[in-house]
Amino acid sequence: MASSRMAERAHLLEAITEFLLRHELPVSPENLLCTHAIMSKTNLRLAKRVAELEEAGEPITQEWLDLQMSESLTADTASSNLDRLARELDRSMERFGESTRSAQEAANDYGAQLVQQTEMVANSSSEEEVVASLAQVARAMLDRTREMEEQMKKSEDEARDLRRNLAKARRDATIDYLTNLPNRRAFEDVFKSEWVAAQAEMEPMCLALCDIDFFKRVNDTHGHDTGDRVIRAVAQALDRISDNCHVARHGGEEFVLLFRGLDLAGASAALDAARERFAARHFVDKVSGKAIGGVTFSGGLTDVFAHPDLSSALRSADEALYRAKEGGRNRVELG
Ligand code: GH3
Ligand code: MG
Ligand code: MG
Repeated sequence: MASSRMAERAHLLEAITEFLLRHELPVSPENLLCTHAIMSKTNLRLAKRVAELEEAGEPITQEWLDLQMSESLTADTASSNLDRLARELDRSMERFGESTRSAQEAANDYGAQLVQQTEMVANSSSEEEVVASLAQVARAMLDRTREMEEQMKKSEDEARDLRRNLAKARRDATIDYLTNLPNRRAFEDVFKSEWVAAQAEMEPMCLALCDIDFFKRVNDTHGHDTGDRVIRAVAQALDRISDNCHVARHGGEEFVLLFRGLDLAGASAALDAARERFAARHFVDKVSGKAIGGVTFSGGLTDVFAHPDLSSALRSADEALYRAKEGGRNRVELG
């Protein structure tokens, strides 16, 4: 048992070393982390992408690896930002509570002081002494009240700023900056609630994965900015399919779609029509003025309720997408 675990570890280490050497990639902490995710298959999607590139005989470059890592890092950073802001807001609320408590304590103190002074006044014979001591209490009270007000105002301002930052960070964590579509994380939340709602209404629901065809070529020939434009155009086209179709950027040049109230035949017709309309468009490189030509995408579609959970439905859509690619691209396959 122990020796087989050791053999597994040795095998993993070998695979990592071999991968880095074969692709002439530097042995940096980032590359080791990324290669570990690929070789141990903890990042299955990335492992699959790598396998596809290797099968196609394409090189795995540092730039490509960085892009893959930055995609998953963006998601991680957004969520740790959110956690940090939530913690700061908690602390600010605690401080606000403390200010309120010390304001209450101070008010109690004045009360006690006033009682004391009133007793002193009652026993005192000199009017001047009475006035002076009352003035002293009043001044102290005013000073302390002002100080408290300032503290409370500061706490309020701080909490308001934090709430604003938190709201913005929440938006940033769920929206993809390039396409303005919801990102994968947001999609997973929507999926869960739509699953419950569709089941309650006994409505059918389908899930699709779409991936732009030969997109690397667009980037290589026309540059990254043009590539970004194409990603945005596909995003818009998919987003226009229907109000009952929830679209999100799943990563890179890949999108995930959730069709509420449509069975496999209905969703397939809707997606295929969008695919056909998009394929008929012709894009032009804004900088060079050269035609990019027709850009197409392929899709894999599955009936959500034929699966026990999201990851199984996604796997099925992914397999169907793979078949669409294998079958010549610019098509939708059912899973
Ligand atoms: P296939 O038809 O098999 O999908 O081929 P492909 O060339 O589209 O697929 P591949 O996975 O080889 O290449 C996808 C490319 O998408 C690689 C990556 O550099 C690029 N990419 C990923 N995200 C972005 C992005 O946000 N902007 C741009 N411009 N390119 C991106
Ligand atoms: Mg892809
Ligand atoms: Mg692609």
